[in-house]
Amino acid sequence: MANKTEKLQKQVASNYKDAMEAATVAAAYAEENAKLRAFAQEIMEAWPAGRLYGCEIQDIALKHSLLIPEARYAPCAESCNCAKYANPNDWGDGVVCYRETALLLGAKL
Ligand SMILES: [Zn+2]
Repeated sequence: MANKTEKLQKQVASNYKDAMEAATVAAAYAEENAKLRAFAQEIMEAWPAGRLYGCEIQDIALKHSLLIPEARYAPCAESCNCAKYANPNDWGDGVVCYRETALLLGAKL
């Protein structure tokens, strides 16, 4: 009997642990969803008749953590936007490279 009770207690503890882990994952998805929705809502303020320029989208993406600014003193890569848009004379003083965050890239939670 004690053995059966012990087995049930272990099962309950295991189920509780699984539920807590699931709740943590669900909370992370909810937080991510809220951030992406806030970004989408701000972008949609330009709809239906407005226009957004790339720099405006960048500012909104920064505000909602889809991009993060990082100082660079050389291009990250030839294909990086910092390499494409920076003035070649500015590298010595540093250039801001706007890096895509895990929120934008969809990195695993
Ligand atoms: Zn870059």
